[in-house]
Amino acid sequence: MNITHELNELRRYRWQDSESSWGLVPTMGALHQGHVSLIKQARAENENVGVSIFINPIQFNSPIDLTSYPVSIDHDLQILENEDVDLVWIPNQKDIYPSDFQSYVEVENISRILEGKSRPGHFRGVTTIVAILFNVFQPDKAYFGQKDAQQLFVIKRMVQDLKFNLQIITCPTVRDNDGLAISSRNQNLSSEGRKQARCLFEALSYSKKAIEKGERITSELIKNMQKIIDEFTLAKVDYLSIADPETLNEVEKIQKRCLISLAVFVDNVRLIDNMIIELE
Ligand code: AMP
Repeated sequence: MNITHELNELRRYRWQDSESSWGLVPTMGALHQGHVSLIKQARAENENVGVSIFINPIQFNSPIDLTSYPVSIDHDLQILENEDVDLVWIPNQKDIYPSDFQSYVEVENISRILEGKSRPGHFRGVTTIVAILFNVFQPDKAYFGQKDAQQLFVIKRMVQDLKFNLQIITCPTVRDNDGLAISSRNQNLSSEGRKQARCLFEALSYSKKAIEKGERITSELIKNMQKIIDEFTLAKVDYLSIADPETLNEVEKIQKRCLISLAVFVDNVRLIDNMIIELE
């Protein structure tokens, strides 16, 4: 496994054999089973697999969120070695964002709703770093988790609009036994917070069942999801949304498919999750 911090070295490894295919899994480190599932899928579909680890400061809209983001580089490298990754790219901050950096990539409307409304500037940070990673690495395929549904949506829009020559692959959300979506931020939960964090999955599961039983009115579903979460003393809803997965516009009545997404502070840790429901 090659590990590099340097852009030119990265390019050298990447183009050593220009004929073979490369899959890239962009991460912010503190790797867990969710990341591993993306890496395994990349391994199965490409001759070479690259993983980037970079905590992207410009996508954090709170300095405390950035400083409390978990870091575990030795543990990460062990995981990547076990998963037979070919190239690990840990870019230097100063190479990515030199002091005179001033070029940003912004996907307009869909970056301003849901997560973008709660975290202004977040997606501008995400699309800027992802564009840089794609531009430098030039992967054939890049792997992202459904766990961050809006992020995927925004990145796909950027790739289409800016004509990046690569395929975006969506990977399913990996969950713990109680349904909690695995996330690096789960490490910041207290033990009671961790128990109560199952409220996100409980709310989503309630809606899934209610829709299967015939409920179509989203205000009813949202009201009941709010009630479910309110029973958990450490949980505070940031937003609850039921939207058309093709546009991310919120809907009053569910037609064929919907994306239910939510953000909840549990014990002051902000957690997000979502489910796509498809009707027969
Ligand atoms: P992060 O390191 O949190 O930026 O995540 C890197 C990638 O892993 C993103 O594409 C995430 O959507 C994906 N990811 C994070 N958690 C999970 C999970 N539980 N299941 C599937 N993918 C995930």
